[in-house]
Amino acid sequence: MRSNLKHIEPYQPGITDDQLRKQFGLARLVKLNANENALGPSPLAVRAIGEELHKLHLYPDGGSELLREAIARHSGVGTAQVMAGNGSDDIIKLLSETFLDADDEIVVPFPSFSQYSFGAALMRAKVVNVPLMADFSYDVEAMLAAIGPKTKLLYLCTPNNPTGTVLKQAEFDWLMDRLPEHVFVIVDLAYDNYATDETRFTVTADALSYPNVAYLHTFSKLYGLAGLRVGYALGNEAIWSYVNRVREPFNVNRVAQRGAAAALNDVEHVARSRQLAADSRVLFASLADVGLHMVPSQGNFALIEVGDGRKTFELLMEQGILVRAGYPGLEAYVRVTFGIPEDNEACVNALRALRASSTV
Ligand SMILES: *Cc1c(COP(=O)(O)O)cnc(C)c1O
Repeated sequence: MRSNLKHIEPYQPGITDDQLRKQFGLARLVKLNANENALGPSPLAVRAIGEELHKLHLYPDGGSELLREAIARHSGVGTAQVMAGNGSDDIIKLLSETFLDADDEIVVPFPSFSQYSFGAALMRAKVVNVPLMADFSYDVEAMLAAIGPKTKLLYLCTPNNPTGTVLKQAEFDWLMDRLPEHVFVIVDLAYDNYATDETRFTVTADALSYPNVAYLHTFSKLYGLAGLRVGYALGNEAIWSYVNRVREPFNVNRVAQRGAAAALNDVEHVARSRQLAADSRVLFASLADVGLHMVPSQGNFALIEVGDGRKTFELLMEQGILVRAGYPGLEAYVRVTFGIPEDNEACVNALRALRASSTV
């Protein structure tokens, strides 16, 4: 086996619903651990997928042409600027394979999404972690300072998973004004369509004019299609001509292309999903009155400071409430995905009860 694989842990998606139900004898699970859309998949996507099923004997369009055209219209860019992937995880891996030689470096915020480091480890590149500030805002000066002659990729995740905090437009502009030309920037906007902060970075025509930046988006969160596996990136078409050399010929399957294209038109599902996130933020922030601080989040999830994240995770799990804990550097926190109101209340009430009994 290749020697660098000794240092890569297989991704642990965590215990499945069925295993948990069995283990604790629970009828109902409150699943707030994977930033999935609690309202379910886009109904327009589900209908379109149904219509596609009788064509499953045919290979999909290898270039995802119709989907990329739909994304281009939706984003106000040309089709050639769009790359489609089997989830944005696929695109992160493709960009890693496209750019990284052994001993190259990537600069990533810390804590952030684990797939960036995975892509680097796979290619034997080195990961340079740049800690976020104490309030989890970006430290762009430190990010710039971390860039050296071997840096190939700089990742920015906004709103950042797992902190929910955003990169400001002014911070992005400051960074781009000073960035050496040999660095390619990947901005992961998986949760941007939940965000409302008007000072945050957003993709404009200006942003799209940078030849060395790609913007990642996913259908897994707002559109509720995590199980379908579709993501996309906007960027310079010259980059995609290289990515196409490492991409599998049929990386996005037939139903995924059809379903994702339909989801883009589902304004009603999108509006309901955004509203749910907005309402949920208010509810979880109310835990402040028992001393449980929520990090202000622009995503469909939030970090809550509980003292002992791992223990809180376990005590909630016994009640059938699944959250996430165990992020390096975030031992005092749990990350809670916003669910339907009933599930949010179950989680908030359980946290209040743990607090009242001084368990957390
Ligand atoms: C969920 C998530 C994604 C999306 O991954 P997919 O492979 O498209 O499901 C990308 N980036 C971040 C930061 C995420 O949290």
